[in-house]
Amino acid sequence: MITNQNLINRFIRYVGIDTQSNEESAEQPTTSKQRDLAGLLYSELCEMGVQAVYDEEHCYVYAKLPGEEPAIGFVAHMDTSPAASGCGVTPHIVENYPGGNIVLREAAPGADAILLRPSDFPELRNHVGEDLIVTNGTTLLGSDDKSGISEIMNLFEYYTTHPEQKHRTICAAFTPDEEVGRGTENFDIEQFGAREAYTVDGGGLGELEYECFNAAAAKIEITGRSVHPGDAKNTMLNAILIGMEFNALLPANERPEYTEGYEGFYHLSEVKGGVDSAKLKYIIRDHDSEKFTARKEFMKAAAALINTRYRLAAGGDVLSISIRDQYYNMAIHLKDHMELITRAKEALQTLGIEPVVSPIRGGTDGAALTYMGIPCPNLCTGGYNFHGRFEYASVQELEKCAELLILLAAA
Ligand SMILES: [Zn+2]
Repeated sequence: MITNQNLINRFIRYVGIDTQSNEESAEQPTTSKQRDLAGLLYSELCEMGVQAVYDEEHCYVYAKLPGEEPAIGFVAHMDTSPAASGCGVTPHIVENYPGGNIVLREAAPGADAILLRPSDFPELRNHVGEDLIVTNGTTLLGSDDKSGISEIMNLFEYYTTHPEQKHRTICAAFTPDEEVGRGTENFDIEQFGAREAYTVDGGGLGELEYECFNAAAAKIEITGRSVHPGDAKNTMLNAILIGMEFNALLPANERPEYTEGYEGFYHLSEVKGGVDSAKLKYIIRDHDSEKFTARKEFMKAAAALINTRYRLAAGGDVLSISIRDQYYNMAIHLKDHMELITRAKEALQTLGIEPVVSPIRGGTDGAALTYMGIPCPNLCTGGYNFHGRFEYASVQELEKCAELLILLAAA
C-alpha cells in the first residue's frame, strides 16, 4: 500500500520525462532535453517557497531551505544512462508483489512476452509483498536517479509543510550528465552552499557507500607500416597485431568480468584501426591508490617493452601511451569526516534498517565533490537493476529512503 502518494506521483512524473545524456556530446548539458526536467524541478521548488536557482545554460538546479547551521546538502542527477532508452517510459505498479515472474509486456503476434524473472534477478525474492514500479520492458525506468530526486523534493515538501519541525539548512543540487562522468563539470560550490553532503544515488534500501574506484583512461596509439602483403617480408609492421601483443601483456584475469569487491581491473573498451595505424582505449580501475599507481606503471612498462621489441624494425617507437586520471577514491578524504557515515548509519537503524556498507565499483558525483572539498558519501534510493529495461523500484523502499533524508536533515 502506498502511504506517501505525493512521493510516488513525483517519481512517476519525473521518469516520464526523457533525460538521457549523450557521451558523444562536448556540450553541457550533453542533451538539451535534460532541461525539461530541470525547468519542472525549478518551478516546483519555487511553488513550494524554496529558494531555487536555475543555471539554465549548464542545466544545474540549486535549492535552499534555511534552517539551523551547519547546512546539510543532498545531490541527485537528472540524466539517465545512455545504455538504454529513456524515451516514452511508461511505468506500472505491481501492487503487493506475490513473487514469481512479472510480465512487463504481454506476448503479441511475432513478439515474445518480456518478463522480469526472479531466476534472472534473485534479489526480487526479497520484495514479496511490496509494491514494485516496473517498466514496459522496452525502456529503462530512470529510478537512477529520479528516485533520488523525488526523495529530495519530498524532503523540501515535508519541511515547508511542517514549519514546526526544526531542521538544518537544507541545500540541494540536481546535476546533468552524471552518467557520462561530467556531473560536476560546472557545479557551483558557492551556489550550493553546504560544506557536507550526500549523493542520493545508490541502490537498495540500507546501502551506504563511501569508497569508490580510483579511475584513469589510457589511450594507445600504434604506428604500423603498410605494404603489399606479397612484398611484406621484413617490411610490414601490422599495427593491429602489435596492439594485440600489447593487450596480451596485461594480466588476463584482471578484467571486469573476472573481478568483484575490491579487485581492480584493466578494461579494453575500444579498438580501431588497420595495418598502418591502430588505437586502443582502456579504462583502469582500483580502490587502492598504490595498486592504482602500479597499474598505470604496468601499462607504461608494457608499452616500453613493445617499443623495445620493434625498435630495430621500426627505427623508433611504434607505440605511444597517454594516461589521464578521471576520478579518485573519496575514502581518503572522507576519513576525516566519518561522522557523515556514522549519522547515516544511525538514521538507518532508527528506521529499523540494517546499514550495508560496500565499496562502489564505479564513481559518483560525490567522488568529484569530495575532491572539491565537500565530503559526500552515497545513500540508497530504493531502486534496482539500473541502466536497463529490467530496472525497478520498490514503493516501500522509496518511502523509507525519503524518511531517511528527513531524519538526516532534522536539527
Ligand atoms: Zn546514478
